[in-house]
Amino acid sequence: MKLETKCLHEGYERANGAPGALPIVQSTTYVFDSTQHIADLFNMPTEHMYSRFSNPTVDAVEKKIAALEGGVGAMCTSSGQAASLLSILNLCKAGDSFIACSAIYGGTVNLFAVTLKRFGIECIFVDPEADDETLQAAVKPNTRAVFGETLANPALNVFDIERFANFAHRNNIPLIIDNTFPTPILCRPFEFGADIVVHSTTKYMDGHAVQGGGVIVDSGNFDWTNGNFPEFTEPDESYHGVVYTREFGKMAYIIKARMQLMRDLGCYPAANSAFLLNLGLETLAVRMERYSRNAETVAKFLQSRDEVAAISYPGLEGDKYYERAQKYLPNGCSGVISFNIKGGRDVATKFMDALKLASREVHVADIRTCVLHPASMTHRQLTDEQLVAAGIDAGMIRFSVGLENVEDIIADITQAFEACK
Ligand SMILES: *Cc1c(COP(=O)(O)O)cnc(C)c1O
Repeated sequence: MKLETKCLHEGYERANGAPGALPIVQSTTYVFDSTQHIADLFNMPTEHMYSRFSNPTVDAVEKKIAALEGGVGAMCTSSGQAASLLSILNLCKAGDSFIACSAIYGGTVNLFAVTLKRFGIECIFVDPEADDETLQAAVKPNTRAVFGETLANPALNVFDIERFANFAHRNNIPLIIDNTFPTPILCRPFEFGADIVVHSTTKYMDGHAVQGGGVIVDSGNFDWTNGNFPEFTEPDESYHGVVYTREFGKMAYIIKARMQLMRDLGCYPAANSAFLLNLGLETLAVRMERYSRNAETVAKFLQSRDEVAAISYPGLEGDKYYERAQKYLPNGCSGVISFNIKGGRDVATKFMDALKLASREVHVADIRTCVLHPASMTHRQLTDEQLVAAGIDAGMIRFSVGLENVEDIIADITQAFEACK
């Protein structure tokens, strides 16, 4: 099946006489005829037994997302933050380190630099354009993973996935990619060598601003038996001595995340949220195409305006990442544009307040056009140095182009520019 078809037909099997739409299974538990049956499930979790481990509605969505990314399995979480956290905790314990590209979402920077540090896990930030020697120098004997973001929120750097996959694999560690902005419709990081993908499903996958969630997808390609990852190849005493690579083969990573981390941390999504997410996924391919087309038109318009000091949109010819976007995002660069307005912070605020159609909200990737000022909102907790590293200017506006008619979006921007005069 092609992507558009997978959006509609993967995950939920519509058997003879079954409901046409994905049913919401609003039950935390499942009943069995024998004690032995449940005991067996604790040995090998082949059926649903308790909502912290799995739920049929959530399971259908996980299968659909895994199919879209081309992975062997997926695990949904209660937020994108939880997905990023678990993707690392599944590999790192206190005393370990991992490498992250500095151009990533502000919330992830804080999670990695502050909260994980309190857990005793060190995040080593690297410039995504650093040369090979500098990258290699960042690797320590305890380094367990490399983390990057396909299309950085909000700087819109395009990450060189293939280069970083090669770098990670030379060091026998996996590459984890946050693929939130492109979604699998526009980029499938596994095709370029990434091993694990995470998403905030709160964004385009949902698209309608109705549910918060995250997901981790496993490519099944990383060799956990390479000697660097004993917790995959030695018995897990917390789980009756299971050896993940032996029992679960290519699905070792994603099953371990579920059986250890979801079991213990419990950040699972509600069935109702999974249902809403599935509605978003059904139209994802159609929406991503239109988001990209609208954004390209708006980006070209902004580029032509005197009020704009700088603009980042990798789909724009002349953009720093245009060439790389042709490789990783050939079918569109998603709906987010970042631009710096002349006059810095004050004019940025005035412009945003003057918008009538576009709404000011703490969100991105909404179905409706929305704007946000990263320096005073999402990235407020970052130091000036971290802001620079994340590619953020005080006058930067993150403009998330929606699915309205693009002429209406441009008319709104035009009147807001006039109002700033
Ligand atoms: C929003 C976002 C997150 C965090 O997701 P939540 O669902 O808000 O927890 C992570 N990564 C990226 C790229 C994001 O845009």
